[in-house]
Amino acid sequence: MFGLICPGPDSSAGPIAPLVTYRVIVYDIHCAEWNTVMRNEPHILIAGAGPAGCVSALILARAGIRVTVFEAEADLPVDLRASTFHPPTLDMLAPLGLTGRLLEMGLKAPTYQFRDRRSGDYATFDLGCLAALTDHPYRLQCEQFKLTGIAAEALRDRPEVELVFNRPVTGVGQDDDGVRVTVSGPDGAETHAGDYLIAADGASSVVRTALDIGFDGFTYPDQWLVASTPHDFAADLDGLAHVSYVADPDEWFVLLRVPALWRVLLPVAADATEAEALSDATLQTRLHGIADKDGDYTIAHRTLYRVHQRVAATYRVGRVALAGDSAHINNPLGGMGMNGGIHDAVNLARKLERILRHGADADRMLDHYSAQRRAIAVEYVQEHTHGNKQAIEETDPAKRRAHMDRMKAIADDPALLVPFARKGAMIDAVERSMAVEPD
Ligand SMILES: Cc1cc2nc3c(=O)[nH]c(=O)nc-3n(C[C@H](O)[C@H](O)[C@H](O)COP(=O)(O)OP(=O)(O)OC[C@H]3O[C@@H](n4cnc5c(N)ncnc54)[C@H](O)[C@@H]3O)c2cc1C
Repeated sequence: MFGLICPGPDSSAGPIAPLVTYRVIVYDIHCAEWNTVMRNEPHILIAGAGPAGCVSALILARAGIRVTVFEAEADLPVDLRASTFHPPTLDMLAPLGLTGRLLEMGLKAPTYQFRDRRSGDYATFDLGCLAALTDHPYRLQCEQFKLTGIAAEALRDRPEVELVFNRPVTGVGQDDDGVRVTVSGPDGAETHAGDYLIAADGASSVVRTALDIGFDGFTYPDQWLVASTPHDFAADLDGLAHVSYVADPDEWFVLLRVPALWRVLLPVAADATEAEALSDATLQTRLHGIADKDGDYTIAHRTLYRVHQRVAATYRVGRVALAGDSAHINNPLGGMGMNGGIHDAVNLARKLERILRHGADADRMLDHYSAQRRAIAVEYVQEHTHGNKQAIEETDPAKRRAHMDRMKAIADDPALLVPFARKGAMIDAVERSMAVEPD
């Protein structure tokens, strides 16, 4: 017995409760025995049970490859960050049995908008124009913890998988024969061996740091606030779509609907303290500024974020590959971080399957992965998300007007809309990635 996970109590109640939680009930094997038993068959180690870690684990397990996922937290984090799934992501998750479940739990957004807060003008982009290119020509609005919840549920059913909690990875070593991770366990440090390690341990990746991989880029000076409320903004703003980017030179905002709530994303001054930014008084003022109403807003969650644009210098060192936020982080305007991380996970897991099951050349495969996915982050995601921020906060009235005119022209002309929608929906990113040739 290596580790046994079992469903914990469903802390159901509110709309943000995870579908299922897990707790480790047995995990006491001596690491020497682990290595003896496990080194006879291909074995992938994964740091982190976020979207990138869970999706890569599921693909590998379905290929019959043994996987151990080490998660630092005691349960799957109830992570409210991502709420938008793009069409190619839904296409990729469908064969894993995840898209159908997400559709049941989420809200289809067939359109999204760019709006001007002052003039009230808006452009509506209809993703139906992508119907010939994807099985899912819409955004799905669904919180990211729902994905990790159902993915972990699927992992629990796989005999190839151990998903172990309370196990932060603290170090990594490797040689020609394999990779070893050091993990902090209840009785001290443990060492686990495998063939390859996927570092899906998020933006502050311990693995990336341990391997001394650069993470160049910048951090935005301003902070970003997300507040959720059951208040229905569709009743306040004319024709409001489920996803709307609202430009304003003083206070831009984003409105994102998920099944039971609206999420509001707002900028916060660089020097504001968390206590100030998240206080009831501040939130009420800011939400009433968006839509005045009688009485206070009910606020379901509030979180303050620092936001960065950074890409790892390489996605691969030897037997270790980075995926998701450990490899790239960007601002959330456009909803590309988790989606891109899932695209990494699918690409990487398929290549590991080809290495371990079909004898493909490991160096060639992993270098190709790094080249393909890094190119997307550098050329596409960073540029697109930063461009979205510049457009939404533009202060020059003439440029704001010109931008809105351009958005409306695109929305109204199918010849312009299709290329625009392909880019925003990350279809171009996936195609560009596929076009990167191996060395
Ligand atoms: C406000 C906001 C809104 C966003 N909205 C969107 C959106 O709509 N669409 C979108 O695509 N993206 C969005 N993002 C980005 C998205 O949340 C991330 O890109 C996504 O969570 C990355 O997934 P991941 O699996 O790489 O990392 P994470 O989700 O960060 O998961 C990493 C996991 O690793 C665990 N871990 C950390 N350290 C260790 C360790 N040492 N050992 C073991 N485990 C460890 C963590 O506990 C966690 O479970 C948003 C981000 C923000 C801030």
